[in-house]
Amino acid sequence: MRNALLILLLLGLAACTGEPVHQRQFLQFGTLIDISVSGVDARRAEAAFDAVEQLLAKRNRQWHAWEDGDLKRFNDALAAQPTEGVPVPPSLRRLIDDSKRYYRVSDGLFNPALGKLIAAWGFQGREQPDRALIERIRQDLPTMDDLRIEDNRAWSDNPFLQLDFGAIAKGLAVAQTGDLLLQHGIRHFIVNAGGDLLVRGRKSDDEPWVIGIENPFRGGALATLAMAGDGAVFTSGSYRRYYIDEQGRRRQHIIDPRTGEPATSIRSVTVLLDDPVAADAAATALMLTEPERLPEMLQRLAVREALVIAEDRQAWISPGWKDRLIWSDRIGPKPQPIGK
Ligand code: AMP
Ligand code: MG
Repeated sequence: MRNALLILLLLGLAACTGEPVHQRQFLQFGTLIDISVSGVDARRAEAAFDAVEQLLAKRNRQWHAWEDGDLKRFNDALAAQPTEGVPVPPSLRRLIDDSKRYYRVSDGLFNPALGKLIAAWGFQGREQPDRALIERIRQDLPTMDDLRIEDNRAWSDNPFLQLDFGAIAKGLAVAQTGDLLLQHGIRHFIVNAGGDLLVRGRKSDDEPWVIGIENPFRGGALATLAMAGDGAVFTSGSYRRYYIDEQGRRRQHIIDPRTGEPATSIRSVTVLLDDPVAADAAATALMLTEPERLPEMLQRLAVREALVIAEDRQAWISPGWKDRLIWSDRIGPKPQPIGK
């Protein structure tokens, strides 16, 4: 009897050999940040969490699109158009350089120079469109090429150019969070920024990290995925931020640079890439990509896997995810393989 109990206790221990998962949740970047780490003790985890909270609070202030901080001051200075140019704050340099790159790679679909238009549509604090301003900006839509950088100074060739890093800043924040965790000796973690994830290592020796993809129509889990390795899984969606305008039309927050209007056909895009910054930019650009152009755009944006769901509930999925996603809900017809 005593032996049996001992064996049971040993089995119990064997079942939870992996170190416990430590977790911290806090609000930042207008969303819930949820960090899970394993393979380290609680003290190391807590010290890292404190450092991450501080870093993200600072980045949110620096990168906020309309509250006072480095970006707002830079935008205001650009609009004032001094002939000698505006110094580029170090905190914005990488966001600007990457935005220029993804603007080109996405064939202009990813365009963070549209901040003034995004605000005019009602997505920077207020929630109704300013029709007169929208019309004026649409006559001369700014692009990332209109922002000239020389010797760390910036000039704008378009008076409507205003940067809004809403589609990429979270990616860089998540990337920097991952780097900080690594510096603290943490090799196994999930950084979850409101459903945008960076996954590294494993939950334990025997278990991979398992993540969920949200149903963009009614919330809850649509599918789960056991992560086979490191990667960034980011989602953009029309259901994430929207309002109903004065004519009763649903207006969502992703603007199509070809029309200057909020996009209407795609409901959500979830992508897997190596790099969170690239993943954030890619998910937003794919919200504006026609289904027939998906294979080309996935390649241009270095997307490893993708799930694209249209407002009419049609869906497209990359071959790797078709084999690996475990569905827990349905949205409509079976997703079609991308590129077939
Ligand atoms: P995300 O959730 O990453 O797709 O980013 C959406 C946010 O990016 C919006 O709330 C806007 O602030 C901004 N945005 C809207 N349209 C675009 C666009 N075409 N390119 C880049 N950023 C955009
Ligand atoms: Mg994005």
